[in-house]
Amino acid sequence: MTGLRETVARAARHPAFKAAVSLLERLDRGRDGVLGVLTYHRVDSPSNEPDLYPGLISAEPRDFEDQMTLLSLRYRVISLEELLAVRQGASLPRRAVMVTFDDAYKDFEEQAWPVLARLSLPATLFVPTDFPDRIDGGFWWDRLYAAFRRTGQSKSIIPSLGSASLLNPRERRTAYDRLREHTKTLPHDDAMETVEDTIRTLGVDSTENPVLTWDALRRLSRAGVTLAAHTQTHPLLTRVPPERAEAEVTGSILDLHREVGITPQAFAYPSGAVDETVASVVKPLAPAAFTTERGLNDVASMDWSRIRRINVGSRSTSALIRAQLLSWG
Ligand SMILES: [Zn+2]
Repeated sequence: MTGLRETVARAARHPAFKAAVSLLERLDRGRDGVLGVLTYHRVDSPSNEPDLYPGLISAEPRDFEDQMTLLSLRYRVISLEELLAVRQGASLPRRAVMVTFDDAYKDFEEQAWPVLARLSLPATLFVPTDFPDRIDGGFWWDRLYAAFRRTGQSKSIIPSLGSASLLNPRERRTAYDRLREHTKTLPHDDAMETVEDTIRTLGVDSTENPVLTWDALRRLSRAGVTLAAHTQTHPLLTRVPPERAEAEVTGSILDLHREVGITPQAFAYPSGAVDETVASVVKPLAPAAFTTERGLNDVASMDWSRIRRINVGSRSTSALIRAQLLSWG
């Protein structure tokens, strides 16, 4: 098992999935009927697309490859279709893990899919369907990040937050993080108005769209990637009226049907935002809905409208030491 030894040694130098490892350790005891679902966003190096918010990089390409190699050796990676069969009474394999990606960034096809395909690991991609083929820019959090990174101003009045010094990358990142946190406290429309005001104030608006095109999504679907719904415009569904939440969910299902010819069987709540009202809107529309609530799922008793996931992204040396124990234990 030289390959495994090398992989783990490399992974230990580039630790990248602390939360995942601690939960997978629980899964690793091999209890029956327990499902782990990993959440990835981007797989890339920050220097590759410096205008995109680096906080959504779940793993750099080499770390991702290590993680998937560990999964393929130690776990049974299942597809969404296999999970839905469990809902119909099929039994769940031991150490079952699903690999999911939110937001359909282009790096999925460039970096993640080649690894997954080579290892024959199934994956589910949650697509915010307003973004493929859009020509006027991508997600607000990336446009805002680019505006803070590239503005020529050394000081600015940020809407709702006041004066912010922007003398160096660290101050710019602090101002960005503060504003990003602040938007989460606002109703969706107010949050978007604040974002647009800030981008105008900073005077830089990136029109780069980092989301996969419909052509690429059709290609991936044909190659075996499961596409699923993630609203159209990616609002926090808890911060829009229920009828708008329903239109976003239904709209994204119809968009995928029209553009790719599939009927998506799953949904992921944008940023994991879900409450009783939102869950009741989604329940009749998607047999399986995924949150960002951290944890494993006991398939005998889990709520299919609130499936827990494990976000991959944090870094910790101890995590990979534990991963070593997992894979050699
Ligand atoms: Zn998302």
